[in-house]
Amino acid sequence: MADRPLTLMAVHAHPDDEASGTGGVLARYAAEGIRTVLVTCTDGRCGDGPGGVKPGEDGHDPAAVAAMRRKELEASCEVLEVGHLELLEYADSGMMGWESNDAPGSFWNTPVADGAARLAELMRHYQPDVVVTYDENGFYGHPDHIQAHRITVAALELVDLSPKVYWTTVPHSAVRRFGEVMRESGPDGERSEPVEPVEPVEAAELPEIGLPDEEISTWVDTTAFGGRKFDALAAHASQGDNIFFLRMGKERFTELMGVETFVRVRDTTGAALPENDLFAGLR
Ligand SMILES: [Zn+2]
Repeated sequence: MADRPLTLMAVHAHPDDEASGTGGVLARYAAEGIRTVLVTCTDGRCGDGPGGVKPGEDGHDPAAVAAMRRKELEASCEVLEVGHLELLEYADSGMMGWESNDAPGSFWNTPVADGAARLAELMRHYQPDVVVTYDENGFYGHPDHIQAHRITVAALELVDLSPKVYWTTVPHSAVRRFGEVMRESGPDGERSEPVEPVEPVEAAELPEIGLPDEEISTWVDTTAFGGRKFDALAAHASQGDNIFFLRMGKERFTELMGVETFVRVRDTTGAALPENDLFAGLR
């Protein structure tokens, strides 16, 4: 066991998910000398193009979007000091119900066994002690996030390893707090300079995500790395969804996003819950 470093593997769907979902833990654990491995399953081709052009609109070139997002992903990994970036390079499937769901090569259209076999190879190579991905609903229902969950679960069945396994989540208290911030900041973003005009988001539009606070097993304080997480997300500034966060400014962002939360779904360490460290019981 001592002949290899403790290893965190995060399995994400798209370029930018690593920053928004796990930027804090990736940066924090890298700083603690833990080997970090990011597996990004798709190329993000259904994201926004240059100038905010949306998929399906004139001028949206999926190959060019994928190439741009690859560069953004590499920049984000540099900020987060991700040790190893592994790309499965499936085609982004787009949101649930989009035609791209069924496109040849789309991640959603790929048999789970195919993705799982490739991910299992990576698990055998890196032997992660901790694996992080989404829950069975992909955190918010995106097909590629659901598929990332499915291949991770299937890959874990294929390998002779027993890492601690976690799903990312957010506490309902944070979702509520977030709704308040959205209401109070409004379209002009009083608290920081707007990057570009953004529609105000109604609290009613908040997706039903996350878990009651008492169901969250693992709370990792990453406030010391809030600036890194912000910079990693800023590396993905081409994606409109990230602009709301960037408008907050670093300080506010860290205040709101400085603790990353997880549900522990597999464990062999017996570490007591709730825990404040993904590696509790391993070091
Ligand atoms: Zn995503």
